[in-house]
Amino acid sequence: MALDAVARRREAIAAAVREGLLGPEAPLVALLDVEGIRQAARELRDAFAGPAPVLHTFAVKAASLVPVLELLDAEGVGCEVASPGELELARAAGVAADRIVFDSPAKTVAELRDALASGIAVNADNPQELARLDALVAERRSAGQDAGAPVGMRINPQVGTGSIGAMSTATATSKFGVALRDEGAEEWITDSFAARPWLTRLHTHTGSQGVPLELMAESVRVVHELAERINQRAGRQQIDTIDIGGGLPVNFAGDETEPSFAAYADLLRRSVPGLFDGRYTIVTEFGRSLLAKQGFVAALVEYTKSAGGRRIAVTHAGAHVATRTAFAPEAWPLRVGAFDAEGAPKRTPEVVQDVAGPCCFAGDLVARERALPELEPGDVVALWDTGAYYFSTPFQYNSLPRPAVHGFGRDAAGRVRFSLVRPAQRMEELLADSGAAQRGALTGTAGAAGGPGRPVSSAAS
Ligand SMILES: *Cc1c(COP(=O)(O)O)cnc(C)c1O
Repeated sequence: MALDAVARRREAIAAAVREGLLGPEAPLVALLDVEGIRQAARELRDAFAGPAPVLHTFAVKAASLVPVLELLDAEGVGCEVASPGELELARAAGVAADRIVFDSPAKTVAELRDALASGIAVNADNPQELARLDALVAERRSAGQDAGAPVGMRINPQVGTGSIGAMSTATATSKFGVALRDEGAEEWITDSFAARPWLTRLHTHTGSQGVPLELMAESVRVVHELAERINQRAGRQQIDTIDIGGGLPVNFAGDETEPSFAAYADLLRRSVPGLFDGRYTIVTEFGRSLLAKQGFVAALVEYTKSAGGRRIAVTHAGAHVATRTAFAPEAWPLRVGAFDAEGAPKRTPEVVQDVAGPCCFAGDLVARERALPELEPGDVVALWDTGAYYFSTPFQYNSLPRPAVHGFGRDAAGRVRFSLVRPAQRMEELLADSGAAQRGALTGTAGAAGGPGRPVSSAAS
């Protein structure tokens, strides 16, 4: 299966070069394996199938591209959103309100009101947010309406940290959720549920990459236990849904998909059997594990050089599409593929080299001292496993444009077919996003149109 994916992406690189999607006019392109996305969604569905009802959602931040959300929805995976922008993407993809979950640590009153009115499930992050929800629910009640949407509470079970601190959300002092083990917290939580019959869900998300499965399962176990205690006190199934978040790590070291959704689901079935007995609906929010291995960027090598005995290939893929790798290379290593100018795998002997991007800072490297076939100008490098949190979340450093994203698949005759998922950012768009229409705003020369700009020096004179 992994081999099949390797064959598909090789074909896609050769076809992208042939068709000019990658070339002098477009030295950087991002590609998504449509069959791979479908297969990942299938594996997720199969892993969690029955007997408990399940709503799978995709963490939109992992690949904020409307056609991807639409494809996943068609494959039975809705959306987890964490900002008004992400919510609009989910809506634009046609995802139904009851298949969307809204998590964010900073929801405004207006966002909460909109979510309730739209029937979009909300997980309250903290006591102040819960107080806002109280007021909104009261507002709806006085208008003769119910709460409008399922409301839950995000719990931080404080189980500990994974290997990447910045990705661990269930630490003792994490900014996310209600910290369960703090003094008096559990009592406050159970009292809060007792006082609010419309509060029906618990949510937890332990982290994102680098968190061991056992730690993730421990969070779910703790939250399930809490749900049981709340329900016992209520004397009914007040909590009907447990949202277990996402966070399944991705193997960036090879082509194998491990750990698999099946392995995680099996661990959960063993360590939290009560979660699966059908009394609770399970919500999942996986991001990286659904998309990372289904996408990659391919870039031309522009120049090669050497400095201090180090060989360096300067390519068009850098920090603008591989931001985490450039800024935190130890935590986010990427595998690099080397291809010739026709897009065929390079077979020349390996030499140790750096693979650099086009950005003007020294850390703009996507691989350091890596053994790869010796790269030459016109060759193509591929950054594998970048389908989540990479090109879909570009960083506009050096005013480098967002690259085009194309999906690829095979037609009935077995030929590679591309479909545009996101166009490359055009120069006009880049200018508009950089204040080109505000020219004159700071020099006072916009005054002809009644602009406020006036040189500071004239105020002083
Ligand atoms: C980021 C995030 C996810 C997805 O995490 P992955 O590691 O991409 O699976 C899920 N839920 C919440 C609340 C998140 O913040």
